[in-house]
Amino acid sequence: MDMRAKEFWFVVGSQFLYGPEVLETVAGRAQEMAEKLSKVLPYPLVYKVTAKTNKEIADVVREANYDDNCAGIITWCHTFSPSKMWINGFVDLQKPYCHFATQYNREIPNEEIDMDFMNLNQAAHGDREHGFIGARLRLPRKIIAGYWQDEKVQKRIGDWMKAAIGVAVSKSMKVMRFGDNMREVAVTEGDKVEVQAKLGWQVNTWAVGDLVREMNAVSEAEIDALMETYKAQYDVATDKLDHIRYQAREEIAMKRMLDREGCMAFSNTFQDLYGMEQLPGLASQHLMSQGYGYGGEGDWKVSAMTAIMKAMGEGGNGCSLFMEDYTYHLVEGQEYSLGAHMLEVCPCCAAGKPRIETHHLGIGMNEKDPARLVFEGKEGDAIVVSLIDMGGRLRLICQDIHCVKPIMPMPNLPVARVMWQAEPDLTTGVECWITAGGAHHTVLSYDVTAEQMKDWCTMLGIEFVHIGKDTTVESLEKELFYNDIAWKLK
Ligand code: MN
Repeated sequence: MDMRAKEFWFVVGSQFLYGPEVLETVAGRAQEMAEKLSKVLPYPLVYKVTAKTNKEIADVVREANYDDNCAGIITWCHTFSPSKMWINGFVDLQKPYCHFATQYNREIPNEEIDMDFMNLNQAAHGDREHGFIGARLRLPRKIIAGYWQDEKVQKRIGDWMKAAIGVAVSKSMKVMRFGDNMREVAVTEGDKVEVQAKLGWQVNTWAVGDLVREMNAVSEAEIDALMETYKAQYDVATDKLDHIRYQAREEIAMKRMLDREGCMAFSNTFQDLYGMEQLPGLASQHLMSQGYGYGGEGDWKVSAMTAIMKAMGEGGNGCSLFMEDYTYHLVEGQEYSLGAHMLEVCPCCAAGKPRIETHHLGIGMNEKDPARLVFEGKEGDAIVVSLIDMGGRLRLICQDIHCVKPIMPMPNLPVARVMWQAEPDLTTGVECWITAGGAHHTVLSYDVTAEQMKDWCTMLGIEFVHIGKDTTVESLEKELFYNDIAWKLK
């Protein structure tokens, strides 16, 4: 999917009451605002119509629903726009929707203001009528209020746009599974039919034997070329170049299969490497750095979420990565989580230049020590996200964390590692996470926010649970209890 072609539509509400002159002014200003905002927003905002009738609104909604490039609509009421004429359009709306409560002028002009000015500039009035119908129809929506030329406001619109892009990516997500989930594991399971109905994901399995056949067809020249890329991006810290070449062969073969099927995400499992000498480590890591999602042990949910959150991040391939909670540092006042994976941590979060190393891997059927990238994750505020299947509904759990430089070098740990402090604190956070049923696998993101994940869940109609600085176990238990009742009624 070409995300560069994506755009958002600006639909401005009005009515015939004010006469053609006012309507021309409204249309001209809406056009001007869309053009100026497009220069600072991550995606273009295209002015579509100053809507005055039920038909104009229903028409533009129908057009938005069917236009692949339209990733969402943003409405605003410069003047008053009676909302009964919005009902038919809104009932049919299938794209993400943001109500932007703003006004053209920043200030009330002391000398100029008269009743004509008031009739033209009455967003405070019009946006309330407009908001009522959103509430009355229980529309999934985002409301952003503030002056349109303020940077903070523009940032919020941009963030919402990226969440809507996450919806577009989700709706076209295809996941390639090599083998099944790890035997007996519960949290990585899920209802693939429900996930396709709610989120749009097509999750299907390919035989590991198909991958091995594809690997055998990779030429030495292709491997030479990828080895040059590896050497340019990473430090080679092993003499076992043939092990690295094998990872290159795996990467080329997997990429070929993914691209042929239009898959943006994949999963595999160490329990099914039939015909392969190494679990893909470096191969998966380098694919992830190019925007592909990955989940270990057959975890297709975290794989798709990784690809979606990467696409929601900076430049359409942000710093979001597959992560796993491993072990804690429980010294009072120095409580940290240590995250890593068997091999597959995306180097997008590396604080320095990653090293390619080869080490024995006891788990799985590895004939040869798999090559992998080893590095420390960078510092910064982040979130961890886990999507679980509650049976009858999907729940997305999001926790605020702060990544730190690992407090010790851990020279014998043969994998990339990230260390963080969790909100509200490590142990309360763990109690909340476990209460909510969050997995050990997560997507860790440095550039997608909890608010964006909440918006993404709202757009797709799934449950969102946030663990932040003010969360307590008691408040969370209550929230989950009431959510359970509410979701049963839905
Ligand atoms: Mn794992």
